[in-house]
Amino acid sequence: MIISAEEAIKKRIPGELIALAQLFDKRGFCLYAVGGLVRNTLLGLPVSDIDICSAMRPNDVAALAQEKGFTVVKKGIEFGMVELHIGKEKFEHTTFRTDKYSEGGSHRPSSVEFSSSPHEDAFRRDFSVNALYYAIKSGELIDPTGGIPDLEKGLIRTTSPDPAAVLADDGLRIMRLVRFCAELGFEIEPRSFETAKSLVKNLLDISPERLRDELDKILLSDVKYGKRNAERVYGALALLRDIGAIETILPELYLGRGITQKAQYHRYDVLDHSLHSCAEAPAELTLRLAALLHDVGKPEVNLKTGLMRGHDAAGEPIARAILKRLKYDNRTADEVSFLVRHHMLDLNNTAKDATLRRNFARWGEERSMALAEVRAADFIGSGIIEGPVASAERWKKLINRMHEEKVPFKESELDCTGGDIMERFALPPCPAVGKIKKMLMEHCAVRPRDNRRERLLEIARDYIGTALFDGSRADGGGSKDGEDGK
Ligand code: ATP
Ligand code: MG
Repeated sequence: MIISAEEAIKKRIPGELIALAQLFDKRGFCLYAVGGLVRNTLLGLPVSDIDICSAMRPNDVAALAQEKGFTVVKKGIEFGMVELHIGKEKFEHTTFRTDKYSEGGSHRPSSVEFSSSPHEDAFRRDFSVNALYYAIKSGELIDPTGGIPDLEKGLIRTTSPDPAAVLADDGLRIMRLVRFCAELGFEIEPRSFETAKSLVKNLLDISPERLRDELDKILLSDVKYGKRNAERVYGALALLRDIGAIETILPELYLGRGITQKAQYHRYDVLDHSLHSCAEAPAELTLRLAALLHDVGKPEVNLKTGLMRGHDAAGEPIARAILKRLKYDNRTADEVSFLVRHHMLDLNNTAKDATLRRNFARWGEERSMALAEVRAADFIGSGIIEGPVASAERWKKLINRMHEEKVPFKESELDCTGGDIMERFALPPCPAVGKIKKMLMEHCAVRPRDNRRERLLEIARDYIGTALFDGSRADGGGSKDGEDGK
């Protein structure tokens, strides 16, 4: 059965919203669904949140909704926004408005004027496909800016025929332009692209948190509605690069542009290799960020020495500074910095199993697996090899084997505690106890069957009796990672 666009949208409107639209109607207002719900229904995609709008003033919307049992959150009432909750449903109502912005590209309008129809409201929205209005009671679909033909063509285009009228006001729209292209698999209308390029410095007026949120959505754009798709993610990152957004918000990464690498190992310059690696990583934010930033130390090291040696160590603080600037949480910053720091481990796939085991036990199972994923993305992102990456495959197998052998990956998984060690050897709480535990972790990484309390205490006794105990290997040794070649 072929159903019309209007019927398809009607099916997605929850009952609570239909009831609300009837109340609006009684007061002389028409309630519309707008944004993602209309756009995605027409595209046959799932809907993430429900945006609604009408000419009713925000305080009146709040009063009416409250009267009918909705919980009301006055999120941005001066901008006409009110959040309505009922049961599991949440709707964001925005009163029709026209926005005024001051100089620069800051996201917040300097003043808003409420208006009376979708035809006026549409022009304060960003893209034609986001300015489709469905009148909930009458079932009429309104398209003031040509969004339906754009949906058919797969085009993201600004609502106004003059793209600068849209993109100049709010720098965030430049990120949203790329994000919607990537999520929907659409193209940018050429004039919107050129205008975004000329206005890209407006991104500097946007708060780091907002930039971060959009960047995250772009990095994971392939899996918003579909499966992992490296080409899609690379396309989005290349678009950010061509618009000038990478240079503006990630200047440290952009320094890799034009830095060529050994042709034997790399097809791309450092920047493009980073973008490809990111796209090749599994769809998990930490991994995509780590793959994006893994070589961020190369430009600095290359400038100083003409080589790439040491770029992993140089890259770690640079990556951390970028993540801090973009207000990523500490956990993300720690994980990504760790992966950047260690991405050169066993580059030539020649390390002994025992060396790898000790590293993996020290780092933990999850981080070690993440490092294997970054390694695979790095190698595939070089544009030279396809298919499985030998070192990454070997690491994953080894980590899985360690897991099966019940290797302790955390000190808490050792069968003896710090208390046991202190008691047995009459030690006070002191750094030596920590050193002994580290040694036991390393030992069990290779000989997991020794993870039994009495056996561990025997090993500890032998260790305390040797010269090693004064700390020369107390940090757990460390691998002799090769880093020639890349
Ligand atoms: P999603 O499915 O990701 O929620 P959406 O289109 O609903 O997509 P929202 O961020 O929920 O996007 O915003 C709802 C609507 O509000 C958009 O469709 C757009 O019309 C408008 N909008 C949101 N942010 C902006 C902005 N920065 N500038 C102009 N219009 C915006
Ligand atoms: Mg939405």
